Amino acid sequence: MPEYPTLHLLIRGEKLAGDGRDADTVCNPATGERLGDLPRATAADLDRALGIAEQGFSRWRTATADERAGVLTKAAGLLRERQDEIAAILTLEQGKPLREAKGECLYSAALFEFYAGEAKRAYGRTLVRPAGKRAEVMYLPVGPIAAFAPWNFPVLNVARKVGGPIAAGCSVIVKPSEETPAAGLALVQCLLDAGLPPEVCQVVFGVPADVSEHLLASPIIRKLSFTGSTPVGKQLVKLAANDLKRTTMELGGHGPVLVFADSDIDKALDTMVPAKFRNAGQVCVSPTRFIVEDAAYDRFRDGFAERAKAIKVGNGLEDGSQMGPMANERGRDNLERRIKAAMADGARLDAGGERIGNAGFFFAPTVLSDLPLDTELMNEEPFGPVALINRYAGEAEMIAEANRLPYGLAAYAWTNDAARRSRLAHEVEAGMLVINGASASAVDAPFGGVKWSGHGHEDGAEGVLACMVAKTVHEG
Ligand code: NAD
Repeated sequence: MPEYPTLHLLIRGEKLAGDGRDADTVCNPATGERLGDLPRATAADLDRALGIAEQGFSRWRTATADERAGVLTKAAGLLRERQDEIAAILTLEQGKPLREAKGECLYSAALFEFYAGEAKRAYGRTLVRPAGKRAEVMYLPVGPIAAFAPWNFPVLNVARKVGGPIAAGCSVIVKPSEETPAAGLALVQCLLDAGLPPEVCQVVFGVPADVSEHLLASPIIRKLSFTGSTPVGKQLVKLAANDLKRTTMELGGHGPVLVFADSDIDKALDTMVPAKFRNAGQVCVSPTRFIVEDAAYDRFRDGFAERAKAIKVGNGLEDGSQMGPMANERGRDNLERRIKAAMADGARLDAGGERIGNAGFFFAPTVLSDLPLDTELMNEEPFGPVALINRYAGEAEMIAEANRLPYGLAAYAWTNDAARRSRLAHEVEAGMLVINGASASAVDAPFGGVKWSGHGHEDGAEGVLACMVAKTVHEG
């Protein structure tokens, strides 16, 4: 088994632990066993981090674009070099198969490289004025940022939280999830080893509500960046509003997938089944509600169930495991309860539906069909390995179902009709629409939602601009 590192806070590059700080236990979701103890930041630690973030902002806002880009590029190289070691830590604390963990490291490295380019392209512009007058629009870093990242992508979530600020010239205090702390720490270590001044990026842990309340109460923090659930996001936006701090909120989703009978059904199945069960379904853009046109329904449902049953579930460190455990016990218990409720409400079980083994938080890839719309799973984000398949008469009904919920993160559609693709692009309420494919993110594309899925973007040029403010200088 790979070695799990000693855990610590990272304040001005200093690794802090012990000294009477309370600690939380980190567990391996594949076994339920303890991996390590994570210190909680005290109020004094948080105040110190805030003071240092202020200094870090003074230092980094004046760094040249070349310097910022250089650090991000070098950190990307280190992340690639260390991918095996970091991926093993990630799998130990989060559970996903090693292959996915490595992919996450590589995506994060590519994101840093893209942001390095964007650091140099935050140009601003000169406006048309008569001789003797001038007006210039400048983009300047917003200030110190407080960022909170969840446990489902322990490296990538943290890379998104710190990459944009560093490219833009901000400082950042990041709180990775207390359930998956080591992978995020390893990512930030790559940045420090690449030459990032340690005041610019600090890492804290604690009781999430206490840490966010403390940091967001400080006037030093100019922006909140959060990825997580919609209920927590709403609370944090209220805290940020007390001081009118800017916000980027990447919240939950309930990914609709519109499958039309004119599409290549085998290709849709071969693509969407692995996409559904990637990271045991614990993905904000996970395809979840399969909205299938009547003529393709039976074939799609049966093909989905057959493929789901063939997925090899096992410890993510073992060769051949295609799906690991769920990342925590409460997620597994919640999913189990909601599946039972859906079946009691009349849903049909086509695959899975139960835990696997007695150790860890394994749950079988599950397919439910013919679900009543008022069952909890059809309304709340399942965040687990379950596909929900229902039958619809045609396009208008299918679009109405896609837009029924207050979420709008990723949506998917399978159709070979070009006119329909254009209609869907306009009508489906989502931050990302994926047609005849499964990938809702790319480093150069803005990633973010509408409605209750949040606002603002990460990735793309937008991910850096979100950490900047426009200032216009008028002359004459
Ligand atoms: P949760 O709502 O308790 O926590 C979600 C995340 O927010 C966790 O990482 C947690 O540490 C953090 N958090 C919680 N309260 C916080 C606070 N007051 N201040 C700062 N951070 C806080 O839910 P959970 O049980 O960890 O996850 C389940 C749900 O969260 C899922 O059903 C899903 O909707 C959502 N989620 C979304 C994403 C995403 O990528 N958008 C990621 C993880 C979880």
